[in-house]
Amino acid sequence: MAKKDYYEILGVSRDASPEEIKKAYRQLAIKYHPDRNPDNPKEAERKFKEISEAYKILSDPEKRKIYDQYGHAGLEAEGVGAGAGFSGFDFDPFKVFEEVFGRSSFGEGFFGEDIFEDFFGRRTRPRSKEARPGKDLHYVVKISFEEAAFGVKKELQIPRYEKCEICGGSGVAPGSQSEICPTCKGKGYIEVTQGFFSISRTCTRCQGRGTIIRNPCKNCRGTGRVYRTRRVKVNIPAGVDNGSRLRLRGEGEAGVGGGPPGDLYLTIKVNSHPIFKREGNNIICEVPITFSQAALGGEVVVPTLEGKVKMKIPPGTQTNKIFRLRGKGIPHLHSYGRGDQWVRVIVETPVNLTREQKELLKKFDELNHGNGQPRIKEFWNKVKQIFGGT
Ligand SMILES: [Zn+2]
Ligand SMILES: [Zn+2]
Repeated sequence: MAKKDYYEILGVSRDASPEEIKKAYRQLAIKYHPDRNPDNPKEAERKFKEISEAYKILSDPEKRKIYDQYGHAGLEAEGVGAGAGFSGFDFDPFKVFEEVFGRSSFGEGFFGEDIFEDFFGRRTRPRSKEARPGKDLHYVVKISFEEAAFGVKKELQIPRYEKCEICGGSGVAPGSQSEICPTCKGKGYIEVTQGFFSISRTCTRCQGRGTIIRNPCKNCRGTGRVYRTRRVKVNIPAGVDNGSRLRLRGEGEAGVGGGPPGDLYLTIKVNSHPIFKREGNNIICEVPITFSQAALGGEVVVPTLEGKVKMKIPPGTQTNKIFRLRGKGIPHLHSYGRGDQWVRVIVETPVNLTREQKELLKKFDELNHGNGQPRIKEFWNKVKQIFGGT
């Protein structure tokens, strides 16, 4: 029997571009892939091999040139060996298919799992898709500084796949049952003999489940899951910090085919606070005071997370001095105790003095007795040591 013309097989003209050839192959390969033709596998396989061979030759510029000039005979002479029909032709049509489509171009459905096969043709049964865990979900939750400190209950709106409550996740309409897949006879995979090897691939009709649903649940269209926005209550514990991650077990998407649900992960983002800064479990804040307060000492009012408190400062307090308010910081996450609040006092030099204030300050200066400003005195002593003089 004369071999069919490669261009004819692909249904393209002799001056077709490489893109046109690839496109033609793609369309035909999908149509004739044996996995997609369970009712007539032999014929589909023959066609599938034919188009794969045609594509393999025409997509190779060198082989195509030979074929254009000398036809099938030319290829035979070159040892590409198409003469003996498919069996003598040294390539795997499924490999060609994979090269063109990539392994995952149909999602997981088309090829199913990888084909397991070693050199001796031993087979591993492809993994069944029956039970697949649900996807984990990730969300960012923004909370205030105070909420991070004391914890907060939040209700989040999470869109996710959930188990269909009508069929309980089975995908089968109530009152009917799933049936054994007629293509793979319930095995979930089918065996294909290729030359010396026999390989098994996941049955694409049932996706490896071994069963098919003739009467799918209308609520979930047979998928066993429905997409909806669910309110999820979250208890954010006291002491979380910016970047803390919470895991809510089982609050991710529903699994497939009875697989376990995924988890819900929340990343905490803490808004900054106008007066407090956080360092670990300690809170830092700066409190400005007047210079007479600093000089005389006494009580200054300091804001804390739980309202204002009075803090004692000694007479002669210098600017930038840090005081510690024990236990006024952030509670330790998942344990007892709290951090501290550190208060840095800033002495503010008065501005916009009235005439009377100026007079008083001048008078104050005249009363300087030499020991009132030890830092200034010490500084000028050093200058004297270095430069001499009085
Ligand atoms: Zn359902
Ligand atoms: Zn099947």
